[in-house]
Amino acid sequence: MESKSNRPANWHTHTTRCNHAVGADREYVEQAVREGFALLGFSEHTAWPYGESDFTQHRRLDLSQMDEYVSSVRALRDEFSDRIDIRVGLEAEYFPQYMSWLRDTKEEYGLDYILLGHHYCGPSESFQYYGYGCTPKAMSYFTESLAEAVETGLFMYIAHPDLMFNTLGTFDANCRSASIDVLEIVKEYRIPIEYNISGFQKKKPGMLGYPCREFWELASAYDPDVYIGFDAHDPSVLSADTHREYSAALRTQGFRVMNP
Ligand SMILES: [Zn+2]
Ligand SMILES: [Zn+2]
Repeated sequence: MESKSNRPANWHTHTTRCNHAVGADREYVEQAVREGFALLGFSEHTAWPYGESDFTQHRRLDLSQMDEYVSSVRALRDEFSDRIDIRVGLEAEYFPQYMSWLRDTKEEYGLDYILLGHHYCGPSESFQYYGYGCTPKAMSYFTESLAEAVETGLFMYIAHPDLMFNTLGTFDANCRSASIDVLEIVKEYRIPIEYNISGFQKKKPGMLGYPCREFWELASAYDPDVYIGFDAHDPSVLSADTHREYSAALRTQGFRVMNP
């Protein structure tokens, strides 16, 4: 039996409530237990207190589901407490107008953590998604808003900090300078970054994809705290072997992997 400290942990897990994941909450927990994980954190795409006129893609919690989501995860936490450490959190964008709501919500529900899933290059879902055809202008918005987001102090780590390179064909000067801007923020605020291994499944031929090799080559000089994130939208992806494989590779490159 391995010591608890060597068992994998995953803080980035979704549920069917976002309408683009499969598997019951319990199946994620059971899979993580089977694989010997020490910790499983649920970080469902947060609801936002949208007004009637706001555009929303319905790929996230609805406000009406918040109570049920939190109580479902808490019930599993209690049921499985002798086998695994279950945490309940959210993955949230940086939409400045909702940050006080997010702070209050974290407090109200006693959430364990929030991941920064910065997905749109603007203050709502109506703006372009970073993971598709990111322009230099969108990259600038990402880096400018990233510092503000991190300054809120609400976020445990930056999920997929390299999402913006996903569909680009070459890592050009703009990509390089955006990466350096991101990494400077990471260093200044000592905020951890995620090595989001779900991106490997989505990678298309001829595209940089994420995790983006060139970004991570630059990152090693900044000595960041790194979390491996499954970004699980399916219980079956939670694999201790996969976790160990990427963890070992990152350590070989000199990174400090935080989980474990
Ligand atoms: Zn998702
Ligand atoms: Zn996610």
